[in-house]
Amino acid sequence: MLLSHDLEPGGASLRSPSAEIARSKFVYAFAEGDASDKMLLGGKGANLCAMTQIGLNVPPGFVITTAACLAYLEGKGLPEGLMADVRLHIAELERKTDKRFGDEANPLLVSVRSGSAMSMPGMMDTILNLGLNARTLQGLIRTTGNARFAYDAWRRFIQLFGKIVMGIADDAFDDAMAAFKRQHGAAQDVDLTADQLKALSEQFLEIYRKETGHSLPSDPYEQLQLAIEAVFRSWNGKRAVDYRRQFRITKEMANGTAVNVVAMVFGNMGEDSATGVGFTRNPATGENAIYGEYLTNAQGEDVVAGIRTPKPIAEMAREMPGLYRQLVELRDRLETHYKEIQDFEFTIEKGRLYCLQTRNGKMNARAMVITSVEMLEGGLISKERALMRIAPMLLEQLLVPTLDPAHRVKPLAQGLPASPGAASGRIVFDADTAEQRATLGEKVVLVREETKPEDIHGFFAAQAVLTSRGGKTSHAAVVARGMGKPCVSGCDAIRIDVRERCAEVGGTLLHEGDLITIDGTTGNVYPGQIPTVEAEFFPELATLLSWADEVARLGVLANADTPRDAARARQYGAIGIGLCRTERMFNDTQRLPIVQEMILADTVDARRAALDRLLPIQRADFKAIFKAMAGLPVTVRLLDPPMHEFLPTASQLEFEISHLRHLQRLTRSVAELPDTLRLLDPELPRDYVESLGKLQQSLVQYRATHRDDTLLTRREAMLKKVHLLSEVNPMLGHRGVRLGITYPEIYEMQIRAILEAAAECVQEGIQAHPEIMVPQVCDAAELKHVKALVDAAKADIEARYGVALNFKFGSMMEAVRACLRAASLAELAEFFSFGTNDLTQATFSFSREDAENKFLPQYITGGILPENPFEALDVEGVGRLMRLAVKEGRGARPDLVVGICGEHGGHPESIRFCHYAGLDYVSCSAPRVPIARLAAAQAKLREKEYAATVFV
Ligand code: PEP
Ligand code: MG
Repeated sequence: MLLSHDLEPGGASLRSPSAEIARSKFVYAFAEGDASDKMLLGGKGANLCAMTQIGLNVPPGFVITTAACLAYLEGKGLPEGLMADVRLHIAELERKTDKRFGDEANPLLVSVRSGSAMSMPGMMDTILNLGLNARTLQGLIRTTGNARFAYDAWRRFIQLFGKIVMGIADDAFDDAMAAFKRQHGAAQDVDLTADQLKALSEQFLEIYRKETGHSLPSDPYEQLQLAIEAVFRSWNGKRAVDYRRQFRITKEMANGTAVNVVAMVFGNMGEDSATGVGFTRNPATGENAIYGEYLTNAQGEDVVAGIRTPKPIAEMAREMPGLYRQLVELRDRLETHYKEIQDFEFTIEKGRLYCLQTRNGKMNARAMVITSVEMLEGGLISKERALMRIAPMLLEQLLVPTLDPAHRVKPLAQGLPASPGAASGRIVFDADTAEQRATLGEKVVLVREETKPEDIHGFFAAQAVLTSRGGKTSHAAVVARGMGKPCVSGCDAIRIDVRERCAEVGGTLLHEGDLITIDGTTGNVYPGQIPTVEAEFFPELATLLSWADEVARLGVLANADTPRDAARARQYGAIGIGLCRTERMFNDTQRLPIVQEMILADTVDARRAALDRLLPIQRADFKAIFKAMAGLPVTVRLLDPPMHEFLPTASQLEFEISHLRHLQRLTRSVAELPDTLRLLDPELPRDYVESLGKLQQSLVQYRATHRDDTLLTRREAMLKKVHLLSEVNPMLGHRGVRLGITYPEIYEMQIRAILEAAAECVQEGIQAHPEIMVPQVCDAAELKHVKALVDAAKADIEARYGVALNFKFGSMMEAVRACLRAASLAELAEFFSFGTNDLTQATFSFSREDAENKFLPQYITGGILPENPFEALDVEGVGRLMRLAVKEGRGARPDLVVGICGEHGGHPESIRFCHYAGLDYVSCSAPRVPIARLAAAQAKLREKEYAATVFV
């Protein structure tokens, strides 16, 4: 994903009208180019123009526009008159530098650099030292007084030109270089003398001749034209095309590359020369101090190639105090102009400081937040800019533990980064083992092919979850995210064998109990334990998010199912719970047997008896959540999943039953064994008979304590029920409100538990604001049915507790028909909450798990769908239904509160749509709350842009 700070200063899409008019002009001197027109001049070109125009010392140069590039790529060759313009601009460079292009005495050399509207580091080509030939080389030797440097520049130029312009493979030169070094006993490039480099250059020229069939052009203008064309072509090179696809850089964001022709300056002209790179503030910590490295008497490549160790910029204050002062002044002027942290390159040539390039500095999340707050407090930027310059997803790193950056462990495999954060633990292959080992104080990682609702206790027990199947919205991913635990899903390189209690990955065999580390932020799985660094909610983040709250219109609530998650959500700034999934409580190991009893009950009375035991448990759950969220709304969803999700699978039961039967047969045969043996030999030795007698006794005891026959009967009954409950399409089957209507006593119990918990809170002076939410609704009649249960419970509880209950009643909007019938639903519902997980599934008729495992990846790479609609809200389809529902719902009930609680509620671009669609709130997992708060503020700040965006 592209982060907003990847945009170069000024934004890529701003195009001035004057530039439109002057479109036929293809070449701009740095002094005249419109610095706001990155589309035309590219990011680098626009910045070079800006820096020149604000009076910074930039080597003279000019930009050839992206328009010229596009014309060239259309196959029309270079636009007419372009090279004539280039000549005029070169003449200007000659005047400014007092050097001449192609001159033997005092040669002007230039660099030819690519640069598009979006930063694409290293993706396109750049040629340095252009203008060198056999004659100008002599001039360079004289003017620099450094023959070694000149020959080195020469051989580099031959290779670069040969490679970029003529397409000669690097190997041809590199092999020759390696052989040459061997021959001369030189370990490194730097060990080669001037004469040796001279000889090597001759070899390079020969390679060029052999590979191309002609000599390297000596005419500098011919060199320049060929170089310009080659840089233009590099826009369509494989590297650049792949990069644009990977980072979704569209034509609207960057179209074609500009070419910057810049006079070369040299940092290797003696001890009063240097080269370096700097950040206007520390990109790792955000500290407001110039940060970077430099090397005296060196050229840029020396820094990059690591040939010499650069010195920290702070040392320059001592070594070159005058120049350091100039550098600090440069830093101040860059920040004042760009109002952003800059990452700049500089060269000092004979005591003169040049800024060669600047761009927005890439920083980690913490530094972004700190610099936002400090730049605002320093009066450099507005609150709007402080909020807009941070991509909300960047905050994800701040709230979860991360791997110690110093670790060097190689990952075993990579899956999908499903829930961020890193954790280590011992491998366990099922939820029960996870729970057992965690109870003993062990840290465990739950490793499964995929997870199911009945694994929930394993999630509670585990530090992290790893699955070999499933996408980023699979059960494992959603549950882990909700709990804020790291999860890697769909790691198909891992083959799990639960029966053998081992897993194989790339030749490594992992056993239960082995340590692994997973990083849910990158999807990496590592062997062993890697230390992690804890996250903290530092003061600047709290400040920034408080500004976000002032700006945002959308409220941010959290999806939380336990008091612990609720408390965390509140700490992260959630102003309520937008979704409390009650089934998570049902799956707790203590409760599951009661829930199963309820499901297996053959009569309503038996079911009620089980529910009566669940009631106090649920009531206590709700009360604890209300307490944690005192004063804030808590939306409790009535039971949603199909019943069979609380029972083991048929195959698991069949497996257990066959074992139990086997055991039964075995014990029977042992019981009969003495008689059988006596038949064979009536004189069986006494001690033998005695041991058999003991064995029989133990068996009798065993059967008395273990009652395998009862266990077997229960398992068989459960299997029958599982078959009975089995559905062809469970997600579209007997679930949600359908379940509440056919088994009203379940919803009755839950409604009672919610309202009784609220009544107890009222009695204790705790402000509880429950909201009862009905899942899977498709018709108002369903709501009416449940509303009647609610009204009855309310009357009864208010009378019994002697308190007035204040709560809301609402509907989830996750069926297409619910959206189409929103007006009638709103007559009963006080709020709507879009369950966009199911609504997306229903709108596309895609089963989420199947889609992500099977065809979605191909749909996305093949361009059929722009993104995974389970991650990024499908604005055109699902969004359209949402807008219809909002409109019709509010038509029927103007004060209808509308929110979203599907996974999209934590996705910044989807939040932007929710703002546009007029929702009141978004609800997301606790760790996403800060992200959503910032995204909600940005949605408000960017709302004017919606006018220009077409949402059909
Ligand atoms: C939804 O469908 O968006 C939703 C929140 O419900 P669940 O994910 O629990 O099905
Ligand atoms: Mg749902």
